[in-house]
Amino acid sequence: MHELFPEVSKVTSDVTGATPRGPWSDVSDDKWNDWRWQQQNRLRSAQDFDALGGHFELSDGERHAISATADAFRMGITPYYATLMDRSDPQCPVRQQAIPHPDELNPSPVDLRDPLGEERHMTVPGITHRYPDRVLFYVTHHCPVYCRHCTRKRKVSDPTSAAAKAQIATGLDYIRSHPEVRDVLVSGGDPMTLSDARLDTLLGAIRAIPHVEIIRLCTRNPVTLPQRFSDATIAMLKRHQPVLVHTHFNHPGECTPEAARCLRRLADGGLSVANQMVLLKGVNDDADVVRATNHWLLRQRCRPYYLFQADLAEGISHFRTTVAAGLDIIRALRGHTSGMAVPHYVIDGPGGGGKIPLVPEYIIEQDDERIVFRNWAGEIYEYPAR
Ligand SMILES: *Cc1c(COP(=O)(O)O)cnc(C)c1O
Ligand code: SF4
Repeated sequence: MHELFPEVSKVTSDVTGATPRGPWSDVSDDKWNDWRWQQQNRLRSAQDFDALGGHFELSDGERHAISATADAFRMGITPYYATLMDRSDPQCPVRQQAIPHPDELNPSPVDLRDPLGEERHMTVPGITHRYPDRVLFYVTHHCPVYCRHCTRKRKVSDPTSAAAKAQIATGLDYIRSHPEVRDVLVSGGDPMTLSDARLDTLLGAIRAIPHVEIIRLCTRNPVTLPQRFSDATIAMLKRHQPVLVHTHFNHPGECTPEAARCLRRLADGGLSVANQMVLLKGVNDDADVVRATNHWLLRQRCRPYYLFQADLAEGISHFRTTVAAGLDIIRALRGHTSGMAVPHYVIDGPGGGGKIPLVPEYIIEQDDERIVFRNWAGEIYEYPAR
């Protein structure tokens, strides 16, 4: 059986075992699996790293960047996510997403403070209503790990910009008074930083609005803090169905047994999970990396949904690839692997244009009579033009 279906053995190995805990090997299972312990023991300074007995070596550049970015966009890394990082290599794809890089301090002239024009379309504080039938609702500015490529870094991690209870109330009022809103994306920050009790109240209030059909919960916790999803948490989310979870895996280094178990528990709990990957230079700008991540996600029943071109947020120019690089990745996937493993590649129109699909060119010629295509394998096909 295993010879014919080598994938079968892989499927079982996805969920077995555990990521080695490195400098935290003495921490009890109870603590390690407690999301509050993970939150409280986040790495927030170079000193926090140094206190781990030399397990992690920070480069001079990283040390400088950690202190120089502390005011603009502070560092925060859960012990769990830190165990996925290379101990010393600043080029490690997981480490690059979590430890500040000196290039963050060199803004590029094309950078924008509000790259997606979210504030331009912010109808009330905390709600971005850009598309006709759905809104983005920011319910917190906190996250377990502050991703260095975050598009909302202008707000996220800033303790003074916490989405206050009053703002959540205003957002709910806005949704209540806009019957065209049938889809609410609960985002932030990471909404799973709220307690189960607060989330339950919030989701319940959204669910009670008759015209809201679906709730989308946008959270990177399956990647940065999979311990967050206890059975009780999943049962709570289930009470507000239909709830669709959007998460954000970028690299196979994040595809651990802990994350696999988390995604499978969400799917078993009846929650539909999709992935929104961000294309990042030096992290995942490689078709093999994207394919491996997406194959793993599908094995956990998580559907690759979007591949985002890196936006123009300030201080992330070192992560930006060309659009051509993204199109090459899509071309290398389409037809070559399951269509389910091929995400929509999109660019958020700078300044608030919304998501614009980017599709490799398969039409090579057309006139009044015929359209000539190239298929995934490079062969030529024709179809009548009318
Ligand atoms: C991405 C986004 C959405 C959701 O877009 P979908 O294509 O429906 O997933 C909604 N509102 C805003 C402002 C967004 O940026
Ligand atoms: S989890 Fe999302 S909102 Fe939070 S820092 Fe990462 S990308 Fe930004």
